[in-house]
Amino acid sequence: MSDYDELMKFQRETEALAQIAGRLGWDQETMMPPGAAEQRSEEMAAMEGVMHQRRTDPQLGDWLARCEATDAASKANLRLIRRRFERSLRVPARLAAEIARVTSVAQSIWAAARRAEDVTAFLPTLANVIALRREEGAALAAGGDVYDALLDEYEPGATSASISDLFSALRPRLVALRAAALAAAPAPRLRGQFDEAGQLAVSRRLAEAFGYDFNRGRIDKAVHPFSSGSGADVRITTRTNLADPFNCFYSTVHEVGHAAYEQGIAPEHALTPVGQGVSMGVHESQSRIYENQLGRSRAFTGWLFGRMRDQFGDIGIRDEDDFYRAVNAVTNGYIRTESDEVQYNLHVMLRFDLERALIRGDLKVNDLEAAWNDRFLADFGFAVDRASNGCLQDVHWAAGLIGYFPTYTLGNVYAGCLHKALRAAIPDLDTQLARGDTSQATAWLRDKVHRHGGLSEPAATIQRATGGAVSEAPLLDYLEAKFRSL
Ligand code: ZN
Repeated sequence: MSDYDELMKFQRETEALAQIAGRLGWDQETMMPPGAAEQRSEEMAAMEGVMHQRRTDPQLGDWLARCEATDAASKANLRLIRRRFERSLRVPARLAAEIARVTSVAQSIWAAARRAEDVTAFLPTLANVIALRREEGAALAAGGDVYDALLDEYEPGATSASISDLFSALRPRLVALRAAALAAAPAPRLRGQFDEAGQLAVSRRLAEAFGYDFNRGRIDKAVHPFSSGSGADVRITTRTNLADPFNCFYSTVHEVGHAAYEQGIAPEHALTPVGQGVSMGVHESQSRIYENQLGRSRAFTGWLFGRMRDQFGDIGIRDEDDFYRAVNAVTNGYIRTESDEVQYNLHVMLRFDLERALIRGDLKVNDLEAAWNDRFLADFGFAVDRASNGCLQDVHWAAGLIGYFPTYTLGNVYAGCLHKALRAAIPDLDTQLARGDTSQATAWLRDKVHRHGGLSEPAATIQRATGGAVSEAPLLDYLEAKFRSL
């Protein structure tokens, strides 16, 4: 057995354990009986301990020193294993364990503070999380920029400078488009009875329409929709809201986009580092192009209008054009996850600036709520009314996910690039979408993005797929063409 074979045998077991840990997490959000929470956290901590040991095993260093890549896959696997190994070594075990412990407790403190609309109940915990992640970032950065070191975990190769440039390029046209969209006549609204069984039936139909493989996946309900797993077991969750079936449908399509990526990776990469989506940003591009550029297109919503009428009868909407406007309504709102395509990235920019200031120490945790509310008023033109609509709305910071938010906008930008190339490759795409047929679009994404898994770095992945450098222009052009005509 060669050194590479031995290394990969060891690595496959680590990847398998990571999949098991992921499935425990899935179970916790979907099936686990409430009384099992405490035992589960001990089970998860045990798994985390085993995996941390494997990721920092000195044997890895010996193998990495001796191994040589023989093809593109082994080159990428060695690069990814080395990267993970070096990052793990830089973070002291004591710090890693403390971050795991504090962020797991922080999430329940955040949830209680959010329910009570009480920011002050969360701030000491948040201060602790920020301090720990800053310490981790400093260890990872080894003299470089602390925030960039955290960002690199989610989007390798991205820096706060590159993100700032991107956001500066996006912002003026988004602000202008937002003003125009809000000044337009209000969109029609759904009316009717949208029972849960009916929503889940349409949701399943949508997952099938987007090619989700139920033989290697399943759909369950969760409070916050997510997808989990890779290879032969990629599960998604959705949620239902009796007053708002679009929440269910577009959550499903979004998660199917994530799942299609994982299900589409070439089987020979399964349980290797290459056998997973390349970054959070590229992952989000797959969920967003399904959800927005395809799922909210005039052609596809025409098909969905028919399916909704089949399921629910009269939904208070006259025709396909009105339905298209209802799906793409732009309205004032506080919540990022409920935001339309025009305003979504403005929510991300706010979080990016605040979390960078928190990490640098320019913004004190005690001043976070005031800073959030001032910035929200300046960006959106109306005041935050309560904390759950303001700085307590997202779980990310409680979970220690700092440097994660920008990947949402990167995903939208990548989706814009991919959509432009996809339209050029399939000129009659709308004819297919109007029949609820996404098979050619999915096949194109599978060939250009999915099957390669983590073979290349994020920007190179998009470049290979589209034949051009990553740019914000296609996203902005698409948004302006769509929303100026609505
Ligand atoms: Zn997503």
